[in-house]
Amino acid sequence: AKKMGRARFEVFDKSLHLEVLSRLELEHDLRLALKQDEIDVHYQPIVDLRSGKLSGFEALARWHHPLRGLVPPDEFIPIAEETGLITPISKFILARACDDIVKWQKDFPEIGPLTISVNLSTKQFLEGNLIEQVRHVLGESGLPAERLKLEITESLLMEELDMVKLVLGQLRSMNVKLMLDDFGTGYSSLSYLHRFPLNTVKIDASFVRNMHLAEENLAIVRAIKMLAIALNMEVVAEGIETLEQVRQLRALKCEYGQGYYFSKPKSGREIEVLLNQSPGW
Ligand code: C2E
Ligand code: CA
Ligand code: CA
Ligand code: CA
Repeated sequence: AKKMGRARFEVFDKSLHLEVLSRLELEHDLRLALKQDEIDVHYQPIVDLRSGKLSGFEALARWHHPLRGLVPPDEFIPIAEETGLITPISKFILARACDDIVKWQKDFPEIGPLTISVNLSTKQFLEGNLIEQVRHVLGESGLPAERLKLEITESLLMEELDMVKLVLGQLRSMNVKLMLDDFGTGYSSLSYLHRFPLNTVKIDASFVRNMHLAEENLAIVRAIKMLAIALNMEVVAEGIETLEQVRQLRALKCEYGQGYYFSKPKSGREIEVLLNQSPGW
């Protein structure tokens, strides 16, 4: 038994070693990624469930690694946060997303005003000169502030409260919209949502996914919608994959929806093809 225990330890050790190596490698490569044009932004449509019309997009970071192929954001965003690379990467994504949306509005004037949602990492929020960055990007791109939506997570609301409230308040006074992402998966208590100037909550995909299977999930979605009404917020349901989910969410009067049922995230070029077809759902 002792022998086996030792052998197992060695196996574990080896894989850990490989993990550390690959992680260091990724970190090294990520430092070069921006310069080498490997970071890209994809866009996922957000649909107005009441009209079926396109309402806007969420910008999602993509890293095309020259050898590994596509590295998912869940893998490289944490590395970017730990190394500080999140600052230049986020700057790039915010600027690109605003530029693209302004360009598409010009090229497709028949499609009404579109919004663009950009994910903010907690690190970026607490460290960067976010207000300056946002003001700069709005000025450069010409995007009206109310069409920019910043997605923050519940964990941010648990951080240094005064500082977070101050920055959120400044963003709000600039007329930028604020969304709470992945709602229901974090630790935030309901009692404290009303203290922040939020416009929208995004109902996490995990509740939407099993809505038709488990009564509890439907009850949770319904409860979040009721909370949003009470706090004068709109909701976006994430991770919609079936027509049945669309129907249920419409019945619950959820304003917006996003998910593979409507469209997967697409490259800028693919979005232009989509816009050319005057999309509706
Ligand atoms: P998120 O903000 O919750 O983004 C939604 C994720 O769900 C995206 O994954 C999207 O592709 C995926 N998704 C959308 N609809 C469906 C669906 O119907 N079914 C399923 N199974 N998945 C769906 P993605 O692009 O891999 O991004 C993962 C996470 O990485 C994001 O979660 C966000 O937390 C983070 N992330 C992505 N881009 C950025 C960024 O520019 N900055 C920061 N700070 N984080 C980012
Ligand atoms: Ca998001
Ligand atoms: Ca989300
Ligand atoms: Ca997420």
